Amino acid sequence: LKLSSIYIKGFKSFAMPTKFDVSAGITAVVGPNGSGKSNVVDAIRWLFGEQSMKNIRADNREDVIFNGSEKFPPSNSAEVRLTFESQEGSFSIAREVSRDGLSQYRLNDRPGRLKDIKELFQGTGVGMDIYSIVGQGQVDKVVSASPYELRALIEEAAGTAIYKERKKEALGKLASTEENLNRLEDIIFELG
Ligand code: ATP
Repeated sequence: LKLSSIYIKGFKSFAMPTKFDVSAGITAVVGPNGSGKSNVVDAIRWLFGEQSMKNIRADNREDVIFNGSEKFPPSNSAEVRLTFESQEGSFSIAREVSRDGLSQYRLNDRPGRLKDIKELFQGTGVGMDIYSIVGQGQVDKVVSASPYELRALIEEAAGTAIYKERKKEALGKLASTEENLNRLEDIIFELG
């Protein structure tokens, strides 16, 4: 799974539609202080469903929409779209919020839920809470993490977290099947 482009329109300082192509190797975004470099990272966090406005340096949901400058009028909506390449081909995820209340996640340009996006990326190492976005000051956090937190980080990085979740689901199914079997045995006993 590889991120191939980041598209931002009307989000924070991005008045004009802007597309970053992410090619092989390392891609760096450079620019003067305050030019919007961190806003690119905020955009990605926001798309992955960041719930805490503080973490994306905003006070409320409308704060992420471009609020106008000398050159450009305020935008009506904010949109962020990430395109990925995978073995099965390319796909995109997007989030859009407008001043009139629209709030939407999209998977391949079709309306979807944040839950679908999270499931899609589970175990891939891409997401909001994990190591794929290392914010300023977060390295300190890893260094001082508890063994339990470190283990969760390693499990996600190794791609085994998804199996843990599936094991939990499978155990649940086993328990209910066992219950059904018991009930069947009772019925057979009563009939016989
Ligand atoms: P630094 O190098 O100082 O960390 P940076 O390049 O990372 O800076 P950001 O912090 O990403 O810059 O960008 C901050 C800029 O984004 C500020 O100029 C701020 O005015 C602008 N900005 C944030 N939200 C909005 C918004 N809703 N509308 C317009 N501009 C915004």
